[in-house]
Amino acid sequence: MAVLSFVEVSEGKIKKASVEAAYYGSKTAEALGTDSVAVVLGEANAEELATLGQVGVKKVLHAADAKLNHFDSRAYTKAVAAAADAAGADVVVLSFNNNGKLLAPRLSVKLKAGYVPGAVELPQFNGGSASVKKNVFSGKASATFTVATGKKVISVNPNSLSPVRGGGSATVETFNAALTDADFNVVVKGVDKVVGEIPLTEAELVVSGGRGLKGPENWHLVTDLAKELGAATACSRAVADVDWRPHHEHVGQTGLTVRPNLYIAVGISGAIQHLAGVNGSKVIVVVNTDPEAPFFKAADYGIVGDAFEVMPKVLEEYRKFKAAH
Ligand SMILES: Cc1cc2nc3c(=O)[nH]c(=O)nc-3n(C[C@H](O)[C@H](O)[C@H](O)COP(=O)(O)OP(=O)(O)OC[C@H]3O[C@@H](n4cnc5c(N)ncnc54)[C@H](O)[C@@H]3O)c2cc1C
Repeated sequence: MAVLSFVEVSEGKIKKASVEAAYYGSKTAEALGTDSVAVVLGEANAEELATLGQVGVKKVLHAADAKLNHFDSRAYTKAVAAAADAAGADVVVLSFNNNGKLLAPRLSVKLKAGYVPGAVELPQFNGGSASVKKNVFSGKASATFTVATGKKVISVNPNSLSPVRGGGSATVETFNAALTDADFNVVVKGVDKVVGEIPLTEAELVVSGGRGLKGPENWHLVTDLAKELGAATACSRAVADVDWRPHHEHVGQTGLTVRPNLYIAVGISGAIQHLAGVNGSKVIVVVNTDPEAPFFKAADYGIVGDAFEVMPKVLEEYRKFKAAH
């Protein structure tokens, strides 16, 4: 028996969401008295993979086939299922990120496993059953699902737990997933990546804007401060829907979930669907003209004021602070 976690590498680094999934897998393995194993698909540096030992992974199965460098739901399902068989895994853990959302249901069908998407806490075991807590109704409530199947697939909500790193090192083994060309749905001819931007889900600082900013021409109020702080930028869905900002910046129930140390929300009302994606942030600062805006209830600090007056002052004060320190 073992617990297998699916780990993704991007630009040579293990994704933050995957570190969380691997940590979740290791803690689950610990609770079951078994080993934590990870599977990595595509080319990756063995030294980087060995660092998974810091979050309790004993062994990494590495299928280094270059064809696996790009996500393909069919090929990945087959490869992860093969790794689960090779590891003798009864529990497979993935991140509830974009790829995890595509992969986990397919994997659960292939493994004939019960599936819980978006876990927010470690599972509780009772005999052969696992009870897993997840958020429902946009994070307003939680529900506990019990999975009684022999094999179980659990995907972990990104930013739901903070991995504690120790000093271990994982052994890295080459793994042959035995795939053929027929296993691939997609042939990737090239990839254009946004360079220089901090990935939102990995960011420790986020400055975010909403409809209160009146139009895309005023976004410098968000981006200037973000640049000065070294923060990522985000927005409400209302803003992405009208093309003021790209959809990959939209956070909330239907967008990304973020859990930075600091989330600054400018001109965002704080609708429940928006809060669902940000309420795990450590410190929330809200700038809004309306003292009754719901976001103030979730805020640690609030400024009731016009963003067009407040934000230039915040930027000026921060620049002064930076110069003095
Ligand atoms: C099924 C469903 C899913 C959804 N998913 C999401 C989601 O994932 N993410 C998301 O964000 N939304 C989502 N929404 C939409 C959500 O309900 C809200 O409509 C949206 O978040 C509102 O965006 P907003 O706060 O930018 O705009 P508004 O609601 O228009 O709020 C603008 C705010 O700016 C303030 N303001 C105005 N002028 C200024 C100023 N000069 N200075 C400072 N403040 C000012 C106002 O007081 C107001 O509070 C979803 C809705 C549905 C139905």
